[in-house]
Amino acid sequence: MITVLLSMKKLTKEYGGPICRACLNEMSGVHLRRKNCWYVSYQGICPRCNQDDKNLVAKLRFSGKVKVMLHARPGRRV
Ligand SMILES: [Zn+2]
Repeated sequence: MITVLLSMKKLTKEYGGPICRACLNEMSGVHLRRKNCWYVSYQGICPRCNQDDKNLVAKLRFSGKVKVMLHARPGRRV
């Protein structure tokens, strides 16, 4: 789970596009904030929850990665 979140590539591939911060938080149990992530520049629909969301995460910032490493629930399936 942690490595999947850190790279984001696998997740993006699996869902066919970047997913929103709410989904990331739900899957990981980590409370990522707006400033913990880099977002895609366009407004799109999250392929996981199918909601129009402007917080599609392209990548985690360093602060986000630290948060994931500290707080991600181990063994939780994506
Ligand atoms: Zn979503």
